Amino acid sequence: MSAHPIDGKAFAAALREKIAIGVAQVAAHGVTPGLAVILVGDDPASHVYVRNKGKACAEAGIASFETILPASTTQAALLAQVAAYNADPNVHGILVQLPLPAHMDAQAVINAIDPAKDVDGFHVINAGRLAVGQDGLVPCTPLGCLLLLKDKLGSLAGKHAVILGRSNIVGKPMAQLLLKESCTVTICHSRTEFLSQETRRGDILVAAIGKPEFVKGAWIKPGATVIDVGINRIERDGKTKLVGDVDFAAASEFAKFITPVPGGVGPMTIACLLRNTLQAACAIHGVDFPLA
Ligand code: NDP
Repeated sequence: MSAHPIDGKAFAAALREKIAIGVAQVAAHGVTPGLAVILVGDDPASHVYVRNKGKACAEAGIASFETILPASTTQAALLAQVAAYNADPNVHGILVQLPLPAHMDAQAVINAIDPAKDVDGFHVINAGRLAVGQDGLVPCTPLGCLLLLKDKLGSLAGKHAVILGRSNIVGKPMAQLLLKESCTVTICHSRTEFLSQETRRGDILVAAIGKPEFVKGAWIKPGATVIDVGINRIERDGKTKLVGDVDFAAASEFAKFITPVPGGVGPMTIACLLRNTLQAACAIHGVDFPLA
C-alpha cells in the first residue's frame, strides 16, 4: 500500500479563504476581529512565528496587535499587559507566545487571560469545557488535526484512535476531541508498555511526542490514517531537515492517509488560530459564527 499524503497546506489555505470571507461577513455587523500576541524574550523561532501570525491576520482581514517584552520582564508586568488586552474592546483573541522565560509561571499567565479571548484554548476554563463536552475555544493544533481527519474520513464514530503524547496542548485535547466524535480513544505516553502493540490497534494514529521518526512502519495498522504532529529538526546528508515523529516513507507502506512534515499539521495550527479569533469575536459580540 502507498499512502495518500494529506495536503495540510492546501486545506489550510482553503480554510483561511473561508475565514477571510467570514471576517468580511461579520464586518457587516461592525465587528473587526482582533488578535493580540505577546512575546517575551528574544527566541528567534518565536519571533518568526509571531511575524507569520501578523501576516496571516492581515491576509484574513483580522486586526493584529503585538507586544514584545524583554526576557527580564517581571511576571507582574506581563500580567499587566494581559489585563490591558483583556480590557481592550478591539482585541478578541490574546495569545502569549510560549515558552516563557523560566522565572515565569506559564499556567498562571494563561489563566489570567479572559477565557472568552483565550484563542489558544489553554485556559483551565476552556480545558474544562472541552473535558465536559461544552463549547469553548479549543487548542489550535488538535483542532487542525480534527478538521483534517473529518475531511478525509467523514464520521469518526466507532473508530479506534491511538494518540501518542499526553501534553496539555496536543495529546490531551486531541483525546477529548476524538472522544467527542465517538472514537474509542487510547492515550499513550513515555511509560506505556508494548507501545507498538497499542499503535497497531489504531484506525487513527496521532503522533505528538517530539521524537524524530520514532514511529516505524510496522507499528501502523494497515489502512490507518496517520496524523504526524511532530516537528523535529535533524541533520541529514549535511543538511538541516524537518521531520515528524513518524518515519514517513516506512509508514506510507501501511497507512491509507498520512500527513507529511512539513506541509501537514503545521499550516493548520495558524489557520485554526485565525478561526478561533473569528469565533471569539463572534461570541463576544453575539454574532453568528459563519464557519460553525
Ligand atoms: P511535550 O514534550 O509537551 O509532550 C510530549 C509527550 O510525548 C509526553 O506526553 C511524553 O510522555 C510523550 N513521549 C515522549 N517520549 C515518548 C516515548 N518514547 N514514547 C511514548 N510517548 C512519549 O510535547 P508537545 O505535545 O508540546 O509536542 C509534541 C510534538 O508536536 C513536538 O515535536 C512539537 O514540536 C510538535 N508540535 C507541533 C505543532 C504544530 O503546529 N504542528 C504544535 C505543537 C507541538 P510523558 O507525558 O510520559 O512525558
